[in-house]
Amino acid sequence: MLELTTPVQYVKGIGPKLAEILATKGIATVGDLLNYLPFRYEDRLNPRGIAELRAGEMATVIAEVRNSGLFRTRRMPIFQLTVGQGPSRLKCLWFNATYMQDKFKAGELIALYGKVEQDKSGELQIIQPQFEMLGDAGAENADDKAAASLEVGRIVPIYESAGQGRVTARWFRRVIRKALEDLTPDLAETIPAAVRGRLALPSPREALWKVHWPEAGESFEDLQSSRTPAHIRLIFEELFFLELGLELKRRQQKAETGIIFRLDERVRQAIKKILPFHPTAAQKKVLKEIADDMQKPYPMRRLLQGDVGSGKTIVSFQAAIIAIENGYQVALMAPTEILAQQHYFSARRILENAGYRIVLLTGSLEADRKREIRRHIAQGNAQLVIGTHALLEEKVEFAKPGLVIVDEQHRFGVLQRLKLMKKSGDEGSRAALGQTGEGARPHTGLAEPDVLVMTATPIPRTLALTLYGDLDISVLDELPPGRTPIITRKVSDERSSEVWDFVRKQVQKGHQAYVVYPVIAESEETELKAAIKMYRELSGKIFADLKVGLLHGRLDADLKDQVMRMFQKGELQILVATTVIEVGVDVPNATLMVIEHAERFGLAQLHQLRGRIGRGAAKSFCILMTGGKVTEEGERRLDAMVRTNDGFQIAELDLELRGPGEFFGTRQAGMPNFSVANLIRDRQLLGLAKREAAAVMAGPNSEITQVEISRALVALRTRWQRTYGLVEVA
Ligand code: ADP
Ligand code: MG
Repeated sequence: MLELTTPVQYVKGIGPKLAEILATKGIATVGDLLNYLPFRYEDRLNPRGIAELRAGEMATVIAEVRNSGLFRTRRMPIFQLTVGQGPSRLKCLWFNATYMQDKFKAGELIALYGKVEQDKSGELQIIQPQFEMLGDAGAENADDKAAASLEVGRIVPIYESAGQGRVTARWFRRVIRKALEDLTPDLAETIPAAVRGRLALPSPREALWKVHWPEAGESFEDLQSSRTPAHIRLIFEELFFLELGLELKRRQQKAETGIIFRLDERVRQAIKKILPFHPTAAQKKVLKEIADDMQKPYPMRRLLQGDVGSGKTIVSFQAAIIAIENGYQVALMAPTEILAQQHYFSARRILENAGYRIVLLTGSLEADRKREIRRHIAQGNAQLVIGTHALLEEKVEFAKPGLVIVDEQHRFGVLQRLKLMKKSGDEGSRAALGQTGEGARPHTGLAEPDVLVMTATPIPRTLALTLYGDLDISVLDELPPGRTPIITRKVSDERSSEVWDFVRKQVQKGHQAYVVYPVIAESEETELKAAIKMYRELSGKIFADLKVGLLHGRLDADLKDQVMRMFQKGELQILVATTVIEVGVDVPNATLMVIEHAERFGLAQLHQLRGRIGRGAAKSFCILMTGGKVTEEGERRLDAMVRTNDGFQIAELDLELRGPGEFFGTRQAGMPNFSVANLIRDRQLLGLAKREAAAVMAGPNSEITQVEISRALVALRTRWQRTYGLVEVA
């Protein structure tokens, strides 16, 4: 009998070689194998008659091989297969497919799946269909017969193949079937009874059988969209334990010792005094949420989400003042030197008059200077320490850390976030990962600093809840007043001279402009206009009479800094740049951004870039110039940019276009990767799982057992390990 935890090698038919291939798909145990769900199903119970096919539909056809052969056109070899049902015939084509020769024997049964199309003469055909040979219907061999019965006359599961095609859908079908047959009959129910009752979920055994081998009456549409009760049960289970784990972790965090910051009248006055403008209602609301957290006896773990330009910086300074006025130090970390410097300048502008002591610590400082600054920090003289991840280096020790602010979280990646947490309390992060056991945690007596994480990536809420489920979330959903919405236009670079005329007009009005390029230097294999080359062209010819600067990532830090400062002061009118300007840089007088090869940028990136303009009262313009052919998806990205300025709407579309893995750049950047769930498709189930997890935790004790608690913690830990490659934090 197989258990879910049994290694796959014990399933009949899986040797060490196959186990190795399966491992590349994340399949190590019987449970993993059974969670390897079909990505679609073929209805071979009611396959289509060739005569009734219509152009445009996706169809499964079961027919007999008639003939096949290769013919050459001027452009490429094409392999043609003709299949038939009685008198009707259907043509299938594969391009450049000499390897298909000799695969088909006349008279054999074949299952085909693909899009039906009409060729020039009106004849129906399927181009490059997926297919499976069903063999000779009158097979002698009993094994073959049994196998064949899995593949015709029923709804058949189709699995993604593995090992470069060495492990086929058919192989998965047979092996998974075998594993199901040998699976222990008393498979434990994992979901708490109360939840199961509320949602009327099928048992795990039933769900596993039906998801792989649907019964004849099952809705085909529900199957294809993963919405049968069997699918829902398996997906819900995965999401539920993750949410339960997150909920438990939040509770653990609330059980830790934090600093109780006082917010008396004196502190209130100090917060107000620094404000250079009236805060927006959203800023007030968010500051209150943060201040409330800071007064609590447990450490704050809060995510502040706000679109570019929504005014996060001032809110974080106000939080900093609360900590400083209570006698604590604050660390503010930015992802790049430019950003750290910019924060440093604004901090000095806004906070230094009020007498706060601010230091900047970045990697590019000279060793002596660094040492000196570190001493200031260690002695507690420095009250606000601004820096890049140089702050994460071992040698930086705070005398009295009270608050850690992390700006632009997505750039750091979760790994670093945890490292930071670790620095401020080893026990805390270990407990956070569930490594001290079932929620019990030795008390260190040390107060943990508060953590405020800021991000300008507008993460759709459901995703944020999963991704940062251990954080409380505040949203700045209002822009400071006096902004006119940015006007965005898309033009082909054939019209670049008109664009440059427009740039000139803006500059003549006293405004400044960015011109952004996707690459730094022209490389041989691309035709992309590179920043350096275009800088020469723009500064030397087109805008020879204007002051043009160049900014890109390969300049050394001093020069970057100098260029940026000149642009900030208005000494440069046009800044030619790469995406180094993407994050945070603030020049309200810049009202125009031209992005060349805009089709090459991701949607989130375009939105971040555009956020650099529209920061003042004057009308701002973003011109998306395209060069060459734009893909359909590229068009959708650009159209979205033209249509809306709303970061959340853009994020939703971006997520849809790219899928969750890509959405956050790399895996390491922190996207949970699931075995049966899919965060885009299953967002509603995620919401449900979250509500149920909360209900269970809030409900009477009988609703949740110790076993379920540890399962949740294991689920959370496994997810994090798989997603972030994060194990040895402790
Ligand atoms: P982000 O959220 O992108 O970090 P910033 O904090 O840099 O945004 O703020 C963007 C710009 O808006 C800055 O120039 C800032 O001084 C200004 N700003 C922020 N809040 C307000 C406000 N309430 N009223 C007027 N201007 C504001
Ligand atoms: Mg910012």
